[in-house]
Amino acid sequence: MRVLVVEDERTLAAAVARGLGTEGFAVDVAHDGVDGLHRAEHEDYDAVVLDIMLPGLSGYEVLRRLRAGKVWAPVLVLTAKDGEYDIADALDLGADDYLTKPFSFVVLVARLRALLRRGAPERPTRLRTGDLVLDPAARRVFRGETEVKLTAREFSVLEYLMRRLDEVVSKTDLLTHVWDEHFDGDPNIVEVYVGYLRRKLDAPFGRRSIETVRGSGYRLHASGG
Ligand code: CA
Repeated sequence: MRVLVVEDERTLAAAVARGLGTEGFAVDVAHDGVDGLHRAEHEDYDAVVLDIMLPGLSGYEVLRRLRAGKVWAPVLVLTAKDGEYDIADALDLGADDYLTKPFSFVVLVARLRALLRRGAPERPTRLRTGDLVLDPAARRVFRGETEVKLTAREFSVLEYLMRRLDEVVSKTDLLTHVWDEHFDGDPNIVEVYVGYLRRKLDAPFGRRSIETVRGSGYRLHASGG
């Protein structure tokens, strides 16, 4: 498995490259956005670890250009900033996962392996199930012809469920991916947000698209309910 690491902090880049090397990955390193984009466009990587704050081109811009150029290698974003805004931006642009610095190397490897298992499917710019449509770039959601206004957090929860259609998604998964891996508030917050989504996307349209799987989590049905 060949991985590109785009990171301008040379000590960190070298440590990640060395660590991934001992885990059996073939690793290339780029130290700025321009070189990172060039390599990712011209070489065939199984995954890219991409810092956001980079000289030359930001990680956001690298990601945007890669996806615009139909390069679908899974991208794990590294962000020093902390907050839903950055993460939501990166996910909108087609990142597959993210880690907030400082991160544990063990977690990085685990997340990378998970991404590699998923492979590089082509991603439609709009997610669709039945008459439910979510446009990540425009941050808009439609039920049939009707636009449904969601908050940033509601949008992220729905997007995560839509990217895992028909799968059971646990509360922990949602907390990790939509909130933060260090979130230490009440996990029932997930239930609250699923409730908001049902009230906006299902109830007014007579649907039941988000199922509660008792003791496991939630499942968004492919039929759209
Ligand atoms: Ca950086």
